[in-house]
Amino acid sequence: MTGLGFKTVLIANRGEIALRVQRACRTLGLRTVVVHSEADADALAVRQADMALCIGPANAAASYLNQEAILLAAELSGAEAVHPGYGFLSENAAFAARVEAAGLVFIGPPAAAIRMMGDKVAAKQAMRAAGVPCVPGPDTALPEDPAALQALAAAIGYPVIVKAAGGGGGRGMRVVRAAAELLEALAVTREEARRAFGNPEVYLEKFLTAPRHVEIQVLADHYGQAVWLGSRDCSLQRRHQKILEEAPAPGIDPQLLAEIGAACTAACRAIGYRGLGTFEFLVEDGAFYFIEMNTRVQVEHCVTEMTTGIDLVQQQIRVAGGARLAWTQAEVPGFGHAFECRINAENPKTFAPSPGVITQWDLPGGPGVRVDSHARAGFVVAPHYDSMIAKLIVHGDSRAEALARLRIALDEMQVSGIETNLPLHRQLAADAGFAAGGVDIHYLERWLQQDGRA
Ligand code: ADP
Repeated sequence: MTGLGFKTVLIANRGEIALRVQRACRTLGLRTVVVHSEADADALAVRQADMALCIGPANAAASYLNQEAILLAAELSGAEAVHPGYGFLSENAAFAARVEAAGLVFIGPPAAAIRMMGDKVAAKQAMRAAGVPCVPGPDTALPEDPAALQALAAAIGYPVIVKAAGGGGGRGMRVVRAAAELLEALAVTREEARRAFGNPEVYLEKFLTAPRHVEIQVLADHYGQAVWLGSRDCSLQRRHQKILEEAPAPGIDPQLLAEIGAACTAACRAIGYRGLGTFEFLVEDGAFYFIEMNTRVQVEHCVTEMTTGIDLVQQQIRVAGGARLAWTQAEVPGFGHAFECRINAENPKTFAPSPGVITQWDLPGGPGVRVDSHARAGFVVAPHYDSMIAKLIVHGDSRAEALARLRIALDEMQVSGIETNLPLHRQLAADAGFAAGGVDIHYLERWLQQDGRA
C-alpha cells in the first residue's frame, strides 16, 4: 500500500535521471515501467524495471520525444502515472495534457502552469503580479513602430537583451549595446525564434552585466500548500549551460533570501502550482530579478537534497499522488553546504563530445560523497544524447569542508576510455576565485579564455 493514487509509474526518460526516478519509485514501493530507445536497451534502469518497453530508434525524436509511442506504452503496461524527468517532454504542456486526458497522472504541474511558464512573457507577467521581482522591462508584446521601440529600449537603458518568449536552453537571446543595433537585433532574433521555437514573439529587458545565477527550489501540493527548500547558485556556466552548482548560494543575506523564498511560494499559490519547481533569478548588487521558472525536477536538485535531507523526487511523486506536504516552511531543514559537478563525456579543452566505451570507472567515496550515474565500466556512451555521464555531489558541514571533500573526490574519480571534463572540474575546485564564492555568470568563460580555451 503506497497511499498514493497510483502503483505503477512509467519513466519517460533515460540516463541518470531515469535511474534517479526509478530509485525514488522503488523507495516508495511503486512498480516502474521504463521506456527506452534501441541504443539504451542495456541501461541499468531498463534492467531493473518491472517492465521495459522499447519505443523507437536511438534518435530521440523517434523515441524519447515520441508521444504516441510513450502513451501506447503506458496503456500496454498498465502504468497509472508518467514521470517525464528533465529535458525531452518534461516541459511540454501538450504532452502533460495528453497524459492527463488518457486518465494517467502526470508527475509534474498542471499543463496550464507548464504552458504559462513556457511563455516567458506570460511568466514574467504572472510573477510580477504575484510580487516576485523581475528584470526591468515591459512584460507585454513589443510595439511595431520603430520609434516606439527605440523609445522603449532607451527607457530601459542600454545594454538591453532581446529574448524569445518561447526560448529555452540558452538559445534565442541577443544583447544590444547601442540604439543603432536595436532594430536589426529584434528582426534577427524574431526570425530565429520563429524557426527554432515556432513562436516569433520576442521581448526586451535590461541586460545585467555581471549577475550571479541564483535559484529557489519550491514544492507545492494539491491543497494550496507550498514551501521553498533553500537556494542554489549555478553561476558557473559555459554557453548558458551549468557546469558546477552549489547550495546554498554563498554570501546572500538570509533575510533577503527568506523574502524571495516567501514571494516564490506565494506565486505558487497564486497560479495554482503543484509539484517541484525552480524559480531562476539573476542577482546583481544584492537585488534579485526573476528570469524564468522551470516546471520540472532539475539536474542540480541533488545539492538541495544534500542540504535538506529531503528526497525531492520521492516528494514530487508523493504530491502528484495526492499526498500533503510533510513540512510547514518553519520545519524545512537546512544544514551544511553541497556542490555538484556535472561530469561530461567531452574533451576538457575543446568541449567536443567524446562518445565511446568506458574502460575504467573508479568512483570516489567517503562521508558526504554521492555519485548519481547510469554509467559503469564497459558502458558505451552513445553519441545520440546529452554528454553528461555522472553527477558528483559532495556535502560538508561548511562550504570549506564541502570544497575540501570535492577536491578529494575529484582526485579519486578516474574514468578512462573516453575523455571527460574531470580535469576542468579539478582546476575549478582549486581556483581561488571559486573558493572565495559568489562569482558571476561570466566567470567561467573569462577563466577559459585566459587559459586559451574555447
Ligand atoms: P533559457 O530558458 O534559455 O535558459 P533564461 O531566461 O533562463 O533562458 O536565460 C539563460 C541565461 O541567459 C541566464 O542564465 C543568463 O546567463 C542569461 N540571461 C538571460 N537574461 C538575461 C539578462 N536580462 N541579463 C543578463 N543575462 C541574461
